[in-house]
Amino acid sequence: MSVPYDLLKNTPNGHLPASARVPAIARPFVSERALKTLDIVEKFVEEECIPADAVFTRQIGETPVERFEAHPSIIEDLKTKAKQLGIWNMFLPKNHFTEGAGFSNLEYGLMAEYLGKSITASEATNCAAPDTGNMEVLAKYGTEAQKRKWLDPLLEGKIRSAFLMTEPQVASSDATNIEMSIRREGNEYVLNGQKWWSSGAGDLRCKIYIVLGKTDPNNTNKYAQQSVVLVPNDTPGITIHRMLSVMGFDDAPHGHGHISFDNVRVPAENMVLGEGKGFEIIQGRLGPGRIHHAMRSVGAAEKALEWFLARLNDPRKTPFGEQLHKHGIMIERVAKSRIEIDAARLMVLNAAIKIDESNAKGALKEIAEVKVLVPTMNLTVIDRAIQAYGGAGVCQDTPLAQMYALGRTMRIVDGPDEVHVLQLGKNENKKGPAHKARIDAQIKRGQELLGQYGIEVSDPLQINRVSGQTSKKSKL
Ligand SMILES: Cc1cc2nc3c(=O)[nH]c(=O)nc-3n(C[C@H](O)[C@H](O)[C@H](O)COP(=O)(O)OP(=O)(O)OC[C@H]3O[C@@H](n4cnc5c(N)ncnc54)[C@H](O)[C@@H]3O)c2cc1C
Repeated sequence: MSVPYDLLKNTPNGHLPASARVPAIARPFVSERALKTLDIVEKFVEEECIPADAVFTRQIGETPVERFEAHPSIIEDLKTKAKQLGIWNMFLPKNHFTEGAGFSNLEYGLMAEYLGKSITASEATNCAAPDTGNMEVLAKYGTEAQKRKWLDPLLEGKIRSAFLMTEPQVASSDATNIEMSIRREGNEYVLNGQKWWSSGAGDLRCKIYIVLGKTDPNNTNKYAQQSVVLVPNDTPGITIHRMLSVMGFDDAPHGHGHISFDNVRVPAENMVLGEGKGFEIIQGRLGPGRIHHAMRSVGAAEKALEWFLARLNDPRKTPFGEQLHKHGIMIERVAKSRIEIDAARLMVLNAAIKIDESNAKGALKEIAEVKVLVPTMNLTVIDRAIQAYGGAGVCQDTPLAQMYALGRTMRIVDGPDEVHVLQLGKNENKKGPAHKARIDAQIKRGQELLGQYGIEVSDPLQINRVSGQTSKKSKL
């Protein structure tokens, strides 16, 4: 691997390199190779990708047609550099896949933070959603033929993909509601139905859809009704009706499609893992992906804080005679942001360590905690930065408005907050009876001790006990 960068001990903006800033709690789990790669990722993002974002946004053009037919050349240039630097496909965890760059979820999580600071960095390193999750599906569940046909070009960054689960006519946060029909006819499957929020479907290089539908809608086990099939996007019967915007941003050329399937026929060998395995596949797909999103959101929050600090220290802006950093309310917001970002990062890294130690199933609680906490933290920090910029904060002159729109979707994508909160709350509540039994035993033992020490209480449960309500017998 040739590294054209002379990695400096200190980065130009004066802070320690990423490897020196890995939280102490995570350090024992991070290899030397990962630390070195982390520094390369940070430098690549800061010095190549963030400046390239400005070119990317201009190269995609102005009109909707231009924007969804664009393939900015700067992306291919960045991909070439990333490959030379050996920062490619870092997302596929080494304990489950041989196809990736050989890092753990934790190690990639640390890198994903930096990718989250730029709109081009994830694609430039072939670590962009939804391709990452789709490649995991193919690597984990695909047949050899499916892998060669679709996984190989995805791993090489030659094509892109989309994951089609959500449907406009049903509440899709409950995947048992999905209605897309997948019917077997001879050696083919026939698909009928519609999907929306199909992210990535706008990209001209998107060649394959991973589609969730129902092969057995009457199965009494509602988790065995679903299946996943691979559908090439040029199959007759597929229509992209429109691209959806996110709070006014079209996210071109990637985009989010509203697509219908009218008697779309694919060969039977396009079934993934087998009929009835759809639920298992989507569950397996979402776990690590949520950690990737979360770490990118931590990176976005860091970037927002950097912009916030830049504004506070802008000597041209002196409301009421002082730069903003002289106004205590702003400094308090800086401190809160620092605390909240650092706390959120620790939670995400902890979840990644738990996944590495077992798998996504073994880290359900930690993943749910992160899924709920991080997007809200990110939005709070971005909001503080927007506020400090005044009017400039909500327009196109800073990246903050678009970051806010993207950050807001993270409370909805991969399952809305409420679903995770409910799951967390219900699981936590299962501990209720055991806690009650322990507390009862402690109260009982406390009463015995009170008797032993000759102390009378008016409230036998001591629920309302305050100083002065106890009476001491002469014994004490
Ligand atoms: C930018 C973006 C990109 C996306 N990319 C993709 C993609 O690539 N592929 C794909 O298939 N989908 C994608 N989605 C869709 C996303 O996963 C769904 O929007 C999400 O799962 C919610 O489903 P829904 O929109 O049908 O909302 P619904 O299921 O109708 O839920 C609406 C609201 O109901 C509430 N709610 C839901 N369940 C509960 C509950 N148990 N208790 C209390 N309240 C509840 C929540 O407030 C929720 O937001 C994307 C969405 C966005 C915004």
